[in-house]
Amino acid sequence: MYPSSVPPTPDSFNQVTPLADDNPFAADLALQEAVIREGGADAREFLHARGAEIGSGEMRRRAELANRYPPRFVPFDGNGRRLDAVEFHPAYHELMDYLARHGVSAAPWARPGPGAHVARAALFMLMAQVEGGALCPTTMTFAAVSALRFDAGLAATWLPRIFAARYDARFVPARDKAGVTLGMGMTEKQGGSDVRANTTRAEPAGDRHYVVTGHKWFLSAPMSDAFLVLAQAPGGLSCFLLPRFRPDDTVNAIRLLRLKDKLGDRSNASAEVEFDRAHAELVGEEGRGIATILAMGHLCRLDCVLGTAGLVRGVVVEALHHARHRRAFGRPLDAHPLMQTVLADLALESEAATALALRLARGFDDDEAAARSLRRLLTPAAKFWICKRGPAVAAEAMEVLGGNGYVEEAPLARMYRQLPVNSIWEGSGNIVCLDVLRAIAREPACVDALAAELAAARGGDDRLDAFAAALLRDLARGAGDEAAGRGITQRIAVAVQAALLVRHAPSVVATAFCGSRLGSDTGAGAVFSAAPMPAAAEIVRRAFPET
Ligand SMILES: Cc1cc2nc3c(=O)[nH]c(=O)nc-3n(C[C@H](O)[C@H](O)[C@H](O)COP(=O)(O)OP(=O)(O)OC[C@H]3O[C@@H](n4cnc5c(N)ncnc54)[C@H](O)[C@@H]3O)c2cc1C
Repeated sequence: MYPSSVPPTPDSFNQVTPLADDNPFAADLALQEAVIREGGADAREFLHARGAEIGSGEMRRRAELANRYPPRFVPFDGNGRRLDAVEFHPAYHELMDYLARHGVSAAPWARPGPGAHVARAALFMLMAQVEGGALCPTTMTFAAVSALRFDAGLAATWLPRIFAARYDARFVPARDKAGVTLGMGMTEKQGGSDVRANTTRAEPAGDRHYVVTGHKWFLSAPMSDAFLVLAQAPGGLSCFLLPRFRPDDTVNAIRLLRLKDKLGDRSNASAEVEFDRAHAELVGEEGRGIATILAMGHLCRLDCVLGTAGLVRGVVVEALHHARHRRAFGRPLDAHPLMQTVLADLALESEAATALALRLARGFDDDEAAARSLRRLLTPAAKFWICKRGPAVAAEAMEVLGGNGYVEEAPLARMYRQLPVNSIWEGSGNIVCLDVLRAIAREPACVDALAAELAAARGGDDRLDAFAAALLRDLARGAGDEAAGRGITQRIAVAVQAALLVRHAPSVVATAFCGSRLGSDTGAGAVFSAAPMPAAAEIVRRAFPET
């Protein structure tokens, strides 16, 4: 018992009620506008309905549970027989089921058409605001389609089960399942980025079948039904499909060693594995493994952009919500000029990320040559820049909540921990910058497509005109010095963001973005809101309208 002179804990006045039962689509004008202009107008009603579900207290609770009770490795059964299984909280399976049912793992392939990728992209961004772990296997399943299409036989077997939009968590052969998920295994101990150094071996066993022996240092979603894996075949590094079950229905020799103890992404399992003469089938041609799996990688990079843009919006909304309802020094936080300018700067970053993410997604709907060239350059550029901005935005947003932002009860801590992985996996920062330089050096049509994209905004803002002209002048001289790769990549991404905002956003948004991001060669300040932001209140109102 406390002595009577110690007061009890006071009521929680001036503590902000957490966001619950909101609709992240309805509240996001920038996303709604981008969906319409990039060709996804027909999906508005669908996205509205999904937004209400995703923002519900029930979905947020699932997200919390799936992360609070992370997956557990079950190597053996009680009798010592190998199981190599992973147990998940039921909430994780519910999240996976939701994503599959609503087409995040396959809809643009199963039902292609104008706006299909854009609609999926918007849904992906909505979900990323609430839970990121289940999106990883969903992304890999979605992206694997492009690699499987290199082989008509494998495509005929696997694609219908991917397109079925069903999640079936049972550990049984794929042929007995309503729907399947796929993972990928490239990274080995001696190096993930330099896959040519892979040591995993594949010996031919006849009729495009192989026997694979080796390891993978990171293999996410190890309960997937099959994995696309790189291994050294007689003809060089090649891509293989390793199913969890062999054709005779025995469990394939994929041994799980342990699960990674990760900073974030905790609802999703990532394993270290060994292949002990595992059964595999060749995908594409022997020796063309990198090109084959890069088709998948390109789509994973798209999803890194979408996931980060969604998370950025999510953390900014948490900050805006808190600042609107928390009072300090006699008025709401968002009425203080210095806080208002911080919030406006965060809102600008989010709107720019949203605009670029959906512009990129549209590039996967359009299939003419110019669209392919633009997405070739813009995918790695956007992955680099948006994923680099993500953790910085989240740290600043967290600070808006003060101490409450730093505790695990608030979703901000989890969102913050989720962000860096999008930059690390599937081409970490330097690797995607080198990819941008390769595109500039080898595919001049990419630079032409970028020039056309920027030309559409010409005359809208003097600062953008000067920034774009300087960028295109530099690109005309070629890829340039490898050491300058980050600078050029960043400038490409920021220039396209500015061009999109100048063409499509309210002028206060475009003006503030160009004024704060285009002043120097690098395109962004070292901290958010280092200078006053004109029309900050208006920018904040647009980012999070009062309901
Ligand atoms: C949560 C999580 C899940 C993952 N899931 C999977 C998965 O399912 N499947 C899979 O295959 N992998 C997976 N990975 C692994 C991930 O893709 C690799 O960690 C990543 O590709 C980097 O490889 P690495 O760790 O070997 O680092 P390295 O390749 O050693 O790179 C280290 C650093 O050096 C930089 N670097 C490398 N080469 C150059 C160069 N030429 N010039 C300049 N800088 C360079 C890189 O950018 C990076 O910053 C996962 C990783 C994480 C964190």
